[in-house]
Amino acid sequence: MSPGESAPILGIEGTAHTFGVGIATLEGEILSNNKKEYIPEKGGGIHPREAAQHISQVASSVINDALQSAQINPVELKAIAFSRGPGLGPCLRTTASIARALATYLNIPLIGVNHAIAHVEIGKLVYHLEDPLTVYVSGGNTMILAIAAGKYRIFGETLDIALGNLLDVFGREVGLAHPGGPKIEKMARKSSNYVELPYVVKGTDLSYSGLLTASIRLIGKEKPEDLCYSLQETAFAMLTEVTERALAHTRKQEVLLTGGCAPNRRLQEMLEDITANHNATFLVVPIEYAGDNGAMIAWTGVQEFRKEHFLQVPESQVIPKWRVDEVTL
Ligand code: AMP
Ligand code: MG
Repeated sequence: MSPGESAPILGIEGTAHTFGVGIATLEGEILSNNKKEYIPEKGGGIHPREAAQHISQVASSVINDALQSAQINPVELKAIAFSRGPGLGPCLRTTASIARALATYLNIPLIGVNHAIAHVEIGKLVYHLEDPLTVYVSGGNTMILAIAAGKYRIFGETLDIALGNLLDVFGREVGLAHPGGPKIEKMARKSSNYVELPYVVKGTDLSYSGLLTASIRLIGKEKPEDLCYSLQETAFAMLTEVTERALAHTRKQEVLLTGGCAPNRRLQEMLEDITANHNATFLVVPIEYAGDNGAMIAWTGVQEFRKEHFLQVPESQVIPKWRVDEVTL
């Protein structure tokens, strides 16, 4: 492959706690995927301003690491893609400034990528999927999405807090260090004693805030492992119910699980069950692409590059509440 053909595009992820930089070629080869994560102070949640400060502190080293591991000289880059939204305002703005500066200095196109769509597209690349139904669950997002009538559309989502946030906050309250998700999963394996908790599904959407409050109230009254088990069973069953409804409605042939919560085995098991019932195939995004990462932004940037969806700097403002159905494919 000649250097011209490989046409590398650098993608920058910075919607929340993770600052990630990836490089992808037009052919869909991922040349690098580097990241540094901001870990909140003990006992605290993610503070948007501190997360943004983390981005400014680590940006140059992560960009250098990505260029080095891909063995790419910046002048070879064909475009700079960045996560334009949805996400935390201060993080998005810091990331966008870095992307604008790079694109302007190198005199190459600037591309704004929707973070949720990027989580889907990286899974499609890895498994050569055409048109999956995707369950995207992370610290800040919980949505079931698929393409319908020419656009990504949401077929179910949380009405309040995200699944990862539910697990992290409960984890903190029960004395587990951030991030709570993996620790709750481990602790839940020690129990099969279900404690009744609120199960809230509204049409195709779900709500986790009442479940969080009720679980926190039971700390000290029930064993931590029983609470972890019951919290997982309830939260995942709610998600599985709305996913099944979306699958029955869209009749997609593949279900893709993506986002930071994707590695959870119990969640995988439940989703795999309903997927099999509908004769569809279940796939879980590989762990290196599960949490927020730059490779997914670079790869989605490649597709935007092909469509020449470029941004001029003055109109490249971030979109903190950017919904997938507002994106032109
Ligand atoms: P992200 O926001 O995509 O970077 O994902 C981070 C979220 O994934 C955090 O809320 C974690 O608690 C969650 N997470 C990571 N591993 C697991 C797991 N094994 N089970 C459930 N949640 C997890
Ligand atoms: Mg994410």
